[in-house]
Amino acid sequence: MTTSRTPRIRLATVWLGGCAGCHMSFLDMGERLIEIFAQVDLVYSPLVDIKTFPPEVDVTLVEGAVVNTDHLRDARKIRENSRTVVSFGDCAVTGNVPAMRNRLDAPRLVSEVYSQGPGEAPPGQGDPGDVPTLLLRVLPLHRVIPVDGYLPGCPPDRERIWTAIGALLRGETIALPEAMRTFG
Ligand code: SF4
Repeated sequence: MTTSRTPRIRLATVWLGGCAGCHMSFLDMGERLIEIFAQVDLVYSPLVDIKTFPPEVDVTLVEGAVVNTDHLRDARKIRENSRTVVSFGDCAVTGNVPAMRNRLDAPRLVSEVYSQGPGEAPPGQGDPGDVPTLLLRVLPLHRVIPVDGYLPGCPPDRERIWTAIGALLRGETIALPEAMRTFG
């Protein structure tokens, strides 16, 4: 006799241009994580040692704004391989702290700090290509890829994350008012 088992949900969490505080808040759920991981496989995350974003992910929580060309590439790969993408925290939702540099001339600032100033790289190091190129403007995630849900907060507190993950596991959406979507 065969028994049918509920398929386990494939969850990923991603860290783009953020401070890791949203992931710390995720970990702050403490023993509730045991309940979550009774139903869920964590298939990609800075919390586990998996190097490549996998295919067929059910839900991906994305922390951080899109700050550089690596983030742009990663965001597109996440979208291609995730059924549901959630902007996780204010940096992903609005740009938040990283977007404060949008008022500055980033290329000039980088040049003055790393090529002309006291932060000049030692000879033989700091060649172009060592670090990803900064975008001219920091962007919230939904300006780069379609996003299915929004989980605001800096960081979102653990109760909010717990409530949101419960909704996502039931197949519900978590939304942000339209007015906030135009921010950033
Ligand atoms: Fe850090 Fe706040 Fe941004 Fe989360 S939303 S990555 S806690 S600055």
